[in-house]
Amino acid sequence: TEVAERVAAITQGDNPALQRRAMAKAITLLESTRADHRALGDALLTALLPHTGQSFRLGISGVPGVGKSTFIETLGLYLIGKGLRVAVLAIDPSSTVSGGSILGDKTRMEQLSMRTEAYIRPSPSSGTLGGVAEKTREAVLVCEAAGYDVVMVETVGVGQSEIAVHGMTDMFCVLQLPNAGDDLQAIKKGVMELADLVVINKADIDPNAATRAQAQITSSLRLLGMHGSHDPAARGALWQPRVIQISALLGDGVETFWEAVSSYRQMQTSNGCLAMRREKQSLAWMWERIDHGLKLAFRSHPAVRDMLPAVQQQVASGQLAASTAARNLLQAQSAAAMIQKAD
Ligand code: GDP
Repeated sequence: TEVAERVAAITQGDNPALQRRAMAKAITLLESTRADHRALGDALLTALLPHTGQSFRLGISGVPGVGKSTFIETLGLYLIGKGLRVAVLAIDPSSTVSGGSILGDKTRMEQLSMRTEAYIRPSPSSGTLGGVAEKTREAVLVCEAAGYDVVMVETVGVGQSEIAVHGMTDMFCVLQLPNAGDDLQAIKKGVMELADLVVINKADIDPNAATRAQAQITSSLRLLGMHGSHDPAARGALWQPRVIQISALLGDGVETFWEAVSSYRQMQTSNGCLAMRREKQSLAWMWERIDHGLKLAFRSHPAVRDMLPAVQQQVASGQLAASTAARNLLQAQSAAAMIQKAD
């Protein structure tokens, strides 16, 4: 069948060019919104799933200019040097809003993109953040089925896209600039709570500032960790977020980075946290998509569509409480659904 042929082309490794083409075609198919494409895409995902799960999923975040693409290129080449294959995917929220892109029309990762051991795919560029995240999640699975050892998912350090990447990766790394003002901002925004590893980049520019930032963020993370303090006996086996400094440009600290990733992976595998994280992520994602689908269906339901303009107006002008309006709309929708069923 067509699905079986596609799976075979994606999972075979002896012809990299063919494999790459099969991956690109699969990801394009999964990005399509056409119903027949979606059905084929779902069949393909189901068939690919037994081949997935072996890669390490690494999230990389940080504000524009912090050095993400420089770092990913340096790290990618380092990993290829170790005999590993790396895939790089991206979630770029700006592409969904403006059609423009923060993560790059500029040529990024020039050396890495020329390597057959690397697969780089830019952010899907249409729809809501949820839609873009869904496509990226599915692209991760395609890369895994193709046997990539490390799948990196990159995003810019703004809001929801970081939460989305955190929710689809095994380890979430935040790149930081070595100045104190920024660290505090990131901590305030709540991104630091998500970080398993904080990477202070551009340490070559001002080593003292980088060391200060490292100390400062380390102590902030310790404070954050104490809020969520678990049973002290269990804490020993739990990962404590680390802070390291690197220079992506010079390649300094990349080994330290990979050591941290490796010990994280080892610890989280042996204490069961990695499997649990993936389980939770999959279920959370299923419910997220159900919520999304239900809301779409609800909004397009004829009974709701008819009532919506007047009800919204009443809520906006303060004639109807928001909660009452919601109940009325939900009731109208379920009543109409019941009548439909009786017919
Ligand atoms: P991105 O927007 O986060 O992807 O950042 P880029 O990787 O494009 O880097 C932004 C700028 O910072 C570029 O001019 C890089 O050459 C520079 N850069 C990145 N990493 C380092 C570093 O470790 N040290 C120094 N001095 N410059 C860096």
